[in-house]
Amino acid sequence: MCIWDLHISNKTHIFVETKTNIMNSQAFINQVEQLVNLLLLTPQTVKVPNITKFPYHTYAITTQSKPQSFNLARLGWTFEWNAEYTAPGQCRSDNKVIYLSKFILERADENLDFWRRIILHEMAHAIDVETRGQSDHGNIWKDICIQLGGIASSKVELKWHKDSLIYEIYCEDCGETQLMPYVPESLTAWWGGATCVFCEGKIKYRKIN
Ligand SMILES: [Zn+2]
Ligand SMILES: [Zn+2]
Repeated sequence: MCIWDLHISNKTHIFVETKTNIMNSQAFINQVEQLVNLLLLTPQTVKVPNITKFPYHTYAITTQSKPQSFNLARLGWTFEWNAEYTAPGQCRSDNKVIYLSKFILERADENLDFWRRIILHEMAHAIDVETRGQSDHGNIWKDICIQLGGIASSKVELKWHKDSLIYEIYCEDCGETQLMPYVPESLTAWWGGATCVFCEGKIKYRKIN
């Protein structure tokens, strides 16, 4: 099983003051779901490298590329929601599923165009898989992703709604505080808590809303 995640970068915490009515509603969730299904059904024409497969997973990739059309729905790719905290999108190759996080969609202050570019990032992985049987965030994938118009990096900046920020993550020693919509796994993991990047003090959390 292979999963490629698009992760939220550390520079994500730009808080917005007002909650937009259109986004995060059931209507917006439906809109995103319609968009991803439509994009999967729409043939995407991209230039993919000419690849010759050899035994032991070696490839000959020529620089000549030819335009090729991919109807991902017809190739067996489907869409599902998941509940990831840190990855707005995922592409899984064994079951050919593209996932979007409903948890993040409901709490982020991002519009339909943002989600469109996330979907195209994941579709680039799917086309990469169809072309050479695997994917990553390397140059071959990146080239496909740029042609589709997706977010061509493995990290994305994201704005959370103020109303979603229900946890206060703070340093016991220096008082450095950050608001989050969830408790980061590093604070609850069995291997111990996180330490402050400023003073190496112990990081704690509390629910504030
Ligand atoms: Zn990715
Ligand atoms: Zn500190």
